[in-house]
Amino acid sequence: SIIVTGATGNLGKFVIEGLLEKVPAEQITAVVRSAEKAAGFAARGVKIAVADYNAPETFDGVIAAGDKVLLISGSEVGSDRVAQHQVVIDAAKAAGAALVAYTSAPGSLTAALADDHRGTEKALLASGLPYVLLRNGWYNENFTEQLAPVLQYNAVTQAAGEGRVSSATRADYAAAAVAVLTGEGHENKTYELGGDVAWGFAEYAAELSRQTGKEIAYNSVSVEAYTGILAGAGLPELLATILAGVDASVEKGELVVDSGDLSRLIGRPTTPIADSIAAALKA
Ligand code: NDP
Repeated sequence: SIIVTGATGNLGKFVIEGLLEKVPAEQITAVVRSAEKAAGFAARGVKIAVADYNAPETFDGVIAAGDKVLLISGSEVGSDRVAQHQVVIDAAKAAGAALVAYTSAPGSLTAALADDHRGTEKALLASGLPYVLLRNGWYNENFTEQLAPVLQYNAVTQAAGEGRVSSATRADYAAAAVAVLTGEGHENKTYELGGDVAWGFAEYAAELSRQTGKEIAYNSVSVEAYTGILAGAGLPELLATILAGVDASVEKGELVVDSGDLSRLIGRPTTPIADSIAAALKA
């Protein structure tokens, strides 16, 4: 079977949809915190397991020998995500899983946000299990789902200077995970995944201007100022600091991924940021 944690998340939902196109539903287990949230999958024959990274015993019996597991990284900022992910790795090891694929961050990323991913990669390698590191670059949606303040102030405010980002859609990254889970020969591989085209925030603002007919500028600010702006908008201090730290990494080029791994794995070009902007403006 194929076991997918975080299956009711934004990425996980695309993974389950992609798997359903390739393997019989009864061979898929969606690991979720809320069975209610997974009712749609259950109705289509996907097996549901209710488990929480914070409660190791809930993973008892979820994974069987020979299963392939996709461990989707947790989303609780400030929690010990390495310990949470260790719970799944231990369960996979105890069961004798055939493969554990983990959604990590680009190898070049030094921002604090990457620490949990480096720690989890280390734990996965230490387990001795066959692994795949899906080092996902940034999502188009990280930007295009945050358009309200941009359209309100006609400004894209970031602290990334002229830095560029090789982003792709969640659906693109999910398709790569599906390819790895349903294909052969991915054991012990590390994939650096990102969009085919890296773009900067000046270009992003220009594309937004083109599509909205408004004049939207890139307002490049310091990391310190950006932290203050995010905190002022109501983000918790820790999250504001983490996100501003990512912008500092963008300026240094740490979110440019030029391996070509993503389009190679999915067998098609990645989705351009312009397409995600169009989808967001239509929504
Ligand atoms: P989501 O926040 O939509 O999904 C996170 C998933 O993790 C949810 O299914 C959630 O369960 C599950 N989860 C969180 N905590 C626990 C826990 N304690 N036990 C079990 N499950 C848990 O994020 P995405 O799907 O968009 O992205 C997947 C992951 O990728 C994120 O969790 C984060 O680590 C990382 N990420 C990557 C980004 C990028 O640009 N590359 C951007 C943002 C995040 P539930 O459905 O019950 O809430």
